[in-house]
Amino acid sequence: MAFFEGERTARSRDFLADDIVRFTTLFANLYAVGTAERWVLVDAGLPGFARSIRRAAEQKFGAGARPEAIVLTHGHWDHSGSALELSKLWDAPIFAHTLELPYLTGKSNYAPKDPTVGGMIGMAARVFPSRGYDFGPRVQALPANGAVPALPDWIWIHTPGHTHGHVSLWRKRDAVLLAGDALTTVNQDNPYTAVTRTAEFYRPPAPFTVDWDAAGASLCTLASLAPAAVGAGHGLPIAGPDTADRLLAYARSFDRPSGGRYVQAPAQADESGIVKLPPPVPDQTGRLIAVWAVTGVAGVAAMLVAQEVKKRRDRSKAEKAAKPDEEDAAKS
Ligand SMILES: [Zn+2]
Ligand SMILES: [Zn+2]
Repeated sequence: MAFFEGERTARSRDFLADDIVRFTTLFANLYAVGTAERWVLVDAGLPGFARSIRRAAEQKFGAGARPEAIVLTHGHWDHSGSALELSKLWDAPIFAHTLELPYLTGKSNYAPKDPTVGGMIGMAARVFPSRGYDFGPRVQALPANGAVPALPDWIWIHTPGHTHGHVSLWRKRDAVLLAGDALTTVNQDNPYTAVTRTAEFYRPPAPFTVDWDAAGASLCTLASLAPAAVGAGHGLPIAGPDTADRLLAYARSFDRPSGGRYVQAPAQADESGIVKLPPPVPDQTGRLIAVWAVTGVAGVAAMLVAQEVKKRRDRSKAEKAAKPDEEDAAKS
């Protein structure tokens, strides 16, 4: 399976800029930004991909290439899963927003995921983790002045909502935006567009989004930048002259999911991690899945028991049928 796609493809929509390459770990994007002399990895993909990511980076920048830094838009497992191993392989520091550090230094887990928001991704989220990581001293806070380490043309912008310490990266010179999970460029709740990967602006991955007011405000912030090219954590990049208008139209029409744990009230956090959660919403679909699972297991168990009973009955019949012969043999 090809884990990586990158650079320019035949489709112009996959083109962000000369010095940006997109890698993909299964369903999560990460980006290498810069030149062979000086580059930064933005996000670090799913766990278990560190050596593949290093290999892909060496194909792009040459043998032995290593970045100046790994910058995380946020710490979810699909964006930071390989960060620690890459940091060790490259001896490169990891940077994240101060409000994201509790989940990257073992101080707090993320707010529990919310599969009750529904949709395809809500269903899939039941098997995804929502725990944090502990990268120890390898992770540090992004500079408070908005500078991005080793990328002087870029700034980071606080775009909370999906997580409390989520950041997006912006380069004004050519209006390129790396949005992380502040938005997606694929509708993951529509089976057709999820498979065809039709590029469209869509909301942040819903089961892991903990503050929908903030998420809507962050979308407006990003739309106000009028980007010419947008690369997100999930989906193909969107570029071209109508990009800013498309994002503005999406931000204006943005609507939160109709139901879910964090839809009425957000999870609250500070620099120590999660401090207050709204009460859980009953997970009817989860219960149904559990009932199906239990019913399925009980059905299989009943079938095995019935087979065993039948085997024993057949064996006993066979033994009974054999006995008269033995008696006859004894008489003769
Ligand atoms: Zn995320
Ligand atoms: Zn993600």
